[in-house]
Amino acid sequence: MQPLEQRIIDVNVLSEAETEVERVMQVCNACRYCEGFCAVFPAMTQRLAFAKADINYLANLCHNCGACLHACQYAPPHEFGINVPQAMAQVRLETYQHYARPAALGALYRRAGVTVTLALALGLTLFLLLTIALTGSLRHPPLAGDFYQIFPHNLLAWMFGSVFTLALGLLMAGVIRFWREISPGAPRSADLAEASHHALALTYLDGGHGKGCNESDDAFTLLRRRFHHFTFYGFMLCFAATVTATGYHYFAGWQAPYPFLSVPVILGTLGGIGLLVGPAGLLWLNLRRSPLHGDPRQKPMDRGFILLLLLTSLSGLGLLAGRDGAWMGVLLAIHLGVVMALFLTIPYGKFAHGFYRCAALLKWAIEKRRGSHAADD
Ligand code: SF4
Ligand code: SF4
Repeated sequence: MQPLEQRIIDVNVLSEAETEVERVMQVCNACRYCEGFCAVFPAMTQRLAFAKADINYLANLCHNCGACLHACQYAPPHEFGINVPQAMAQVRLETYQHYARPAALGALYRRAGVTVTLALALGLTLFLLLTIALTGSLRHPPLAGDFYQIFPHNLLAWMFGSVFTLALGLLMAGVIRFWREISPGAPRSADLAEASHHALALTYLDGGHGKGCNESDDAFTLLRRRFHHFTFYGFMLCFAATVTATGYHYFAGWQAPYPFLSVPVILGTLGGIGLLVGPAGLLWLNLRRSPLHGDPRQKPMDRGFILLLLLTSLSGLGLLAGRDGAWMGVLLAIHLGVVMALFLTIPYGKFAHGFYRCAALLKWAIEKRRGSHAADD
């Protein structure tokens, strides 16, 4: 435990990026032109001053839609140089790093390219070597899609269950620390319902007028919102496929492989297509996005995460197509290696943004209910 004086200093001293958000918010609080764009501006108006926790909260409430930059009369090249999305993006990266557990691994957020590459190399090597160790070769006679003749079910359940649980636990430990610093009190069920609605609908990617985000110029588009939905619901369908298959295995006694028209395969196929369309679209948008919108240091994290999602769906659909052939073991090893890399990077990559944003949305729901100047209570 740090001495009390040091903890007080940690809470109050602003980094360079946080100081910039404080400056920007002071200008915006006087201007208030963007009040209807998203939750950041009404949350800002509940504050007269911006402490470190307030800044971290507002940064994670921002969905980086770009609308306030394109509407701002004080944006660069104006001498005020107001760029809310970029200032918020820089603080968000610091937030993930600051709250990461264990603290030493928080630096991985700034080296996301290396992190993803290492995780992929580790995952692929591990499962290709395991395939050879368990079967004696990468090639085998057709196994009618029976994965468990290569990797026993219990081995896979143990490996992926333990890594996923640990990764999610580490991420949640950071989010809980964040929540404790920003929390205005206990949420009610109405707050949870409102925050869930805004998270699931991605309300604040509509630019405040329903026409969507700005990407490379002043034009509005709903594409980022749509591609996020493809990605998120695709991921959830794949998760539902895994849960259903686990239920079949343990409770119904139905062993894989399941036919193409079974519930787990249909869910997994639809999820895989969603995870192909969504990340491909997000990568395309990311490559053509105005450099003014975000933090250039976050690009490796954004693109590394998108790449992992794309590889997950591509390798999963490839495995489905080739599961009756002699190379099923290789296809399976590649898919499992990619999924393992995705799991390993959960606490130290872009996956975190959804969790921190949900916490910020929940705080905003509480604040809104409690009314003006709740943050000063
Ligand atoms: S972003 Fe610009 S226009 Fe919008 S509230 Fe801030 S200063 Fe005003
Ligand atoms: S970039 Fe979009 S979400 Fe972020 S503060 Fe501006 S209007 Fe709100």
